[in-house]
Amino acid sequence: MKVSDILSGSTKAYPSLEIVPPMRGMTKNELLESIAPFMEFSPKYINVTSHRDEYEFKSEADGSFSRHLVRNRISETTVCAAIMERYDVEVIPHIICAGTTKEEIESKLDNLEFLGINNIVALRGDSMASEKRFSPTPGGYAYASELVEGIRKYQGSASYQRKRKSEMTSGERYFCIGVGGYPEKHFESPNIETDIANLKKKVDAGADYIITQMFFDNQAYYDFAEKCRQAGIEVPIIPGLKPISSFRQLTMLPETFSLDIPVDLTKAIEEVKDDKAAIYQVGAEWCAMQCKDLIAHGVPAVHFYTMGKSQNITEILKQCF
Ligand code: FAD
Repeated sequence: MKVSDILSGSTKAYPSLEIVPPMRGMTKNELLESIAPFMEFSPKYINVTSHRDEYEFKSEADGSFSRHLVRNRISETTVCAAIMERYDVEVIPHIICAGTTKEEIESKLDNLEFLGINNIVALRGDSMASEKRFSPTPGGYAYASELVEGIRKYQGSASYQRKRKSEMTSGERYFCIGVGGYPEKHFESPNIETDIANLKKKVDAGADYIITQMFFDNQAYYDFAEKCRQAGIEVPIIPGLKPISSFRQLTMLPETFSLDIPVDLTKAIEEVKDDKAAIYQVGAEWCAMQCKDLIAHGVPAVHFYTMGKSQNITEILKQCF
């Protein structure tokens, strides 16, 4: 079922969960067992993130450098197929522009359609560790709005329509597309208004809904949602949450995701800084409080960035849904 249909058919907020594909070496069974605790809550869908291939450079005996592909994670499509085989849940692979050509993305879409997957989240992705700024792959997309437009165009093309064997009335969209939004603005944007104008380009190109970056102060989400509406963005905006689970995240999350951690949360974590279990508890309680408040404000769904942790998320789900 498409997320757009789930959203329009829901009468109360539901949880969705995002997982990261495992590193090479983890077995399919280990992955599926790691997400088993979530299944008790009958999530409507599970998002699976996508990660670009990286390269490492090795110096050779003759003084030259050789480039080697480092593919560390199992692909999102493979993980989605494994989840579908075991569990009765929709899966949503993320598709990124980073490190991929337009043709490779079309091939990915064909593979997803083959598996019967008709939900995706379209994102730009980040620069490589070795790059200062994001640079598009030659033959690829520079922005997520171009990716959304490219996906819609590909599906409308005559060759795609000929390839499709299933019944789809002309003009109907096979993929339901989600995109990312940033309540505290994307770190490359000069200001929130410009960032929201760029977000609108993604919606105008055909995105069906927005999932936000994580935030720790709900007011940031409420202000963002209001600004989006004022800018003419009408699609659902699903808030994204992540419970803090370690002391290091107090600095790591702002650095990585360019967001603020409220003073009260910072103080509460600093007070128990030497007690790992207490930090975990403080983070989960804060996140549950955010979640309850968002639901009380009528959000359609709450998206959880699980980042491989299930215990804190399941505690929050128990309290809130
Ligand atoms: P874009 O929408 O392209 O925006 C990137 C920047 O460019 C912004 O500053 C925007 O304002 C600006 N911009 C956009 N369009 C234009 C334009 N036409 N002209 C000028 N400027 C423009 N990363 C991964 O690698 N894999 C994942 O699976 C993944 N999942 C994510 C899920 C969610 C819900 C979110 C919120 C983020 C996720 N990310 C993921 C991170 C994301 O890839 C990064 O935040 C990335 O830096 C931006 O991606 P985007 O799709 O928002 O980019």
